[in-house]
Amino acid sequence: MAKKDYYEILGVAKDSDERTIKKAYRKLARTHHPDASEESPEIAEKKFKEVSEAYEVLADKDKRTRYDKFGHKGVDFDGGGFSWDQFSHSDDVSDIFGQLFGGGQRGGVGDIFSQFFGGGQRGPDNRGDDLRYDITLTLKEAYKGIKKEIEIPRDGSCEKCSGSGAAEGSNTRTCNTCRGQGMVQKMVRRGFMSTVSTIECNDCKGSGKTVDKPCSVCRGSGIIPVKKKIKLQIPPGADHGYRLRMRGQGGAGPNNGPKGDLYVVVNMKKHNVFQRQDNEIILDLEITPAQAVIGDRLKIPTLSGNVKLKIPSGTQSGDVLRLKGKGMPDISRPSLVGSQHIRINVKVPKPNGKTRKLWEELRELDSEKPSFLDRIMDKFG
Ligand SMILES: [Zn+2]
Ligand SMILES: [Zn+2]
Repeated sequence: MAKKDYYEILGVAKDSDERTIKKAYRKLARTHHPDASEESPEIAEKKFKEVSEAYEVLADKDKRTRYDKFGHKGVDFDGGGFSWDQFSHSDDVSDIFGQLFGGGQRGGVGDIFSQFFGGGQRGPDNRGDDLRYDITLTLKEAYKGIKKEIEIPRDGSCEKCSGSGAAEGSNTRTCNTCRGQGMVQKMVRRGFMSTVSTIECNDCKGSGKTVDKPCSVCRGSGIIPVKKKIKLQIPPGADHGYRLRMRGQGGAGPNNGPKGDLYVVVNMKKHNVFQRQDNEIILDLEITPAQAVIGDRLKIPTLSGNVKLKIPSGTQSGDVLRLKGKGMPDISRPSLVGSQHIRINVKVPKPNGKTRKLWEELRELDSEKPSFLDRIMDKFG
């Protein structure tokens, strides 16, 4: 597929100045950032990456000149395509996410970007675990979407101590070591250099709180393993690898920390008749020579039930007939529905006692006209 034009992606004119480009990117980054977007995380992430790639090129004088001259070839990102570690402008948008998330409990701005840049700088905290739940869907389930209750094992809040981790009558107090920050600074030697690193506080395990006497049920963590029933809903059109993020449905955080997220990941079961390519459905259909020559009307299975299909007279092997709107709905735009494509294969039968005579007659009839073979023989004769 041809790569989209960077100017088009950012929705700016080719002669736009730096400020216009920056403004356009900031607006799009705000719309598509996976942590803020209304879109599914998969789609938001893709779009966020796409606009960031365009910005990486157009915000850089040198890269922009090369792109204007040579197109995508001029900036092929070392041949491997754009990856997040090649994005050098995160500062241009970091403030947006600072506003959006109000410098919340997590590591703040750097944290949000570090997810993408793989920087591993996420500050230690008492947030619960993110969980992954794999679900396998049949083609029909993916077509209709599903609603079902699932049970997932996860960390839950301890009932005995209401998640505080403290035994009855015992007090919870701010950790002395980290003064409630959950993190401490430590000198780390790397070769000749010593750097200051922020690491999780060992005394409170990052929660910022300690208890005099830990709860006997959860041993002070405030969490216990539970099996939680969750109502799962996947909209029509999910494909292999689709990820659904359910905020706050992951594990409970230690000592009443915020809950993690649950990621539901879709796997697709292969269908024995239909093949799928994104939102398009493909069906291989064998027809007889007589049907190919004269045409026919056949009942054809589709995802929404059987439909009548007209095989036109003169259909060839390899022809593809299309049933519009009989494919998969698009998961992000349900009104957009793919097609079903019927790939025709004309199957040549073995003649039997009844048909042999007819085939022989047809052969004689056909041989009265000059054949393809006669025509090419003439050229060489
Ligand atoms: Zn501490
Ligand atoms: Zn407890």
